[in-house]
Amino acid sequence: MPDIFCALCGEPWDQDYVTHELHPLDRPRFLEGAGCEACDFGRSCPPCSGTGREKGDRAGGCAVCLGSRCLIIRQPVNSNRPERWEYGYRPHVRPIDNPEIITRYRPTSTRDELVRNAKAHCPACRGTAPPCRVCAGSGELQPVPDGDLRAAISELAASDAEPLGILARRLGDRCP
Ligand SMILES: [Zn+2]
Ligand SMILES: [Zn+2]
Ligand SMILES: [Zn+2]
Repeated sequence: MPDIFCALCGEPWDQDYVTHELHPLDRPRFLEGAGCEACDFGRSCPPCSGTGREKGDRAGGCAVCLGSRCLIIRQPVNSNRPERWEYGYRPHVRPIDNPEIITRYRPTSTRDELVRNAKAHCPACRGTAPPCRVCAGSGELQPVPDGDLRAAISELAASDAEPLGILARRLGDRCP
């Protein structure tokens, strides 16, 4: 299956994934060139996941985040302790208070409650891990040059949709 590139970060996504697995609310954003899950829809530098820190290996990196420099955290929407979040998976769920949030994701529902989801800086290694070489520590996305044009060309090759429609949607005024 041909890939369709993210117009902002250049990440390739399988056309099947875009059509069938990408969240229905994210699909039009992706196809309009507003980013993808790898760049948090334009908010994060993909190599460091928006942390601004160079990732480490599992063994020597950090015992809290295992070198990823970030934690995927969650909190019940109806929590009565707004500072208290959790990370990790059963039986290793841990609390974290006042996390430094990088980006928020859509809430999800578990069996019995609605849960907020977010990505936060790892509090244990944030101050000591070296800065990301791609974004120089900012955590911000460095958009790929001509990303919208490359994305349009990749979609033209991958999709049966009407070519002029693809170009108009993606390039707008730049449409030839
Ligand atoms: Zn992207
Ligand atoms: Zn860490
Ligand atoms: Zn970075």
